[in-house]
Amino acid sequence: MMVKQGLATETPLMNLLPTFHDIAIARSRAYPTARAAARLDALLVLTDAKSAALLRLLPEAERWQSLQQRTKADPFSLRSTALANARQTQAVLAFAGNDATQYQRLALAGRMLAEIAARRPAQIGVIVDADLSDAADWHEAILSAAYSHAFALPAFRRVSAPPWRLRRIQLYRAPSLELVRIRATARAGNLVRWLTTLPPNQLDARNYRRLLTTLARRHRLQLRWYSEPQLQRLGAGAFLAVARGNGARDAGIAHLVYRGRRAGRQPDVALVGKGIVFDTGGINLKPHRGMLDMHTDMAGSAVALACTLALAELRAPLRVDAWLAITENNIGPTAYRPQEVVRAVNGTTIQVIHSDAEGRMVLADTLALAARTRPALLMDFATLTGACVYALTERYSGLFTRHAALQAAAQEAGARSGERVWPFPLDEDFDSDIESRVADIRQCALESKGDHILATRFLSRFVPDALPWIHLDLSAATRAGGLAHVNTEATGFGARLTLELLLSGAWRAALRKGRRA
Ligand SMILES: [Zn+2]
Repeated sequence: MMVKQGLATETPLMNLLPTFHDIAIARSRAYPTARAAARLDALLVLTDAKSAALLRLLPEAERWQSLQQRTKADPFSLRSTALANARQTQAVLAFAGNDATQYQRLALAGRMLAEIAARRPAQIGVIVDADLSDAADWHEAILSAAYSHAFALPAFRRVSAPPWRLRRIQLYRAPSLELVRIRATARAGNLVRWLTTLPPNQLDARNYRRLLTTLARRHRLQLRWYSEPQLQRLGAGAFLAVARGNGARDAGIAHLVYRGRRAGRQPDVALVGKGIVFDTGGINLKPHRGMLDMHTDMAGSAVALACTLALAELRAPLRVDAWLAITENNIGPTAYRPQEVVRAVNGTTIQVIHSDAEGRMVLADTLALAARTRPALLMDFATLTGACVYALTERYSGLFTRHAALQAAAQEAGARSGERVWPFPLDEDFDSDIESRVADIRQCALESKGDHILATRFLSRFVPDALPWIHLDLSAATRAGGLAHVNTEATGFGARLTLELLLSGAWRAALRKGRRA
């Protein structure tokens, strides 16, 4: 049965990819004069809650000082007014806290941007008190918030307001900043948010593949698409079980290859992502509320993709592979059922228990295929379990690894990037909960307790013990009201942490440390 999903096949590809309007970032050595400030639509100032020294140096100093006096200068609070110039420049004064985390900085930066967003400023100025020891981190937070707020997510209204065009950000007396990296990281997060937001009839498997073809060409990446017949020949029965219920034969595993300045077959890093473009739950159908947002179940694949593109954009000296498992999890006469036994690509047989535990099925084959290339580090991203959300809420994502030094490095990268992750245990004895009498392993337990841990124990059967591996259960991929500096439901979570971990080289240091231990 071929189900033609009309709109999707007719969608011109341009609508499936975001337009990134670049924001010019300029620097001044001195604080702005009143005339310079009058050219700005908004001026964002961040200073220490206890010190007013900076405010005396600003244009219309009395106004800033009275703003501070009016405000209970609590850390992480802000207040705004307008300057007296003809443009009525919006003036936002925010207060830093001692020992702020990057999450706290991003959250306050997000509120500063939200304060000015309604007027859609084209030119904004940013002043961070140079006396703050973490002034560079504050700049990073404010710029990241600006990139995020000024980015327009997909909208399909017949009449819509023109998008906010933030054209220029003027930095005053800023320390040295990695502007190229900040921009690439923000773009990656925005691409994840964009793809995660696209409706499921737009970003279906067929269009996802078309989009990857375009992006691969644009970024000069190799793209190999493993179609269903090819996966059949390879014996990827776990992925194919999930894909079987689809109306069209468009599912597949995408393999993207980026080789920085270092040629060679063996990747430094393989990034694997769950790309369920819509999850009905399958035969064990989800109820209305649980199914509603299941077009976002491909967020993990978007993180793997966006990070690969960002590393390519930055010409990072790394060899990176991305593996995206792309399919729907559909209900229908051919859909896979509980108690089926299927064989994954590494020969492991799986007793199916619940059709809604499809993420671990598609990841099983994809992880096993990625592992064959023997990357130095294997990392996967998946909106995998509700249990992880119950454990952490949508503020954190779950971190799983068998490698102590990698766990520390990933947690640290999470803290530095503001994308917080928390580790869970992975002891072997959890395996007795997913022991099967008819197959090598059960897909999941009957009860959902600890399902985020059991799911990872399941996945570990498809990753060789010796291979350094990080699994992120993306409980923070979507959150009502946004997260940190991001003010939309799709948070883009994963891109900042991963780029921080990979670009800082902390992952390599962790692996060396692991070898010594
Ligand atoms: Zn599911």
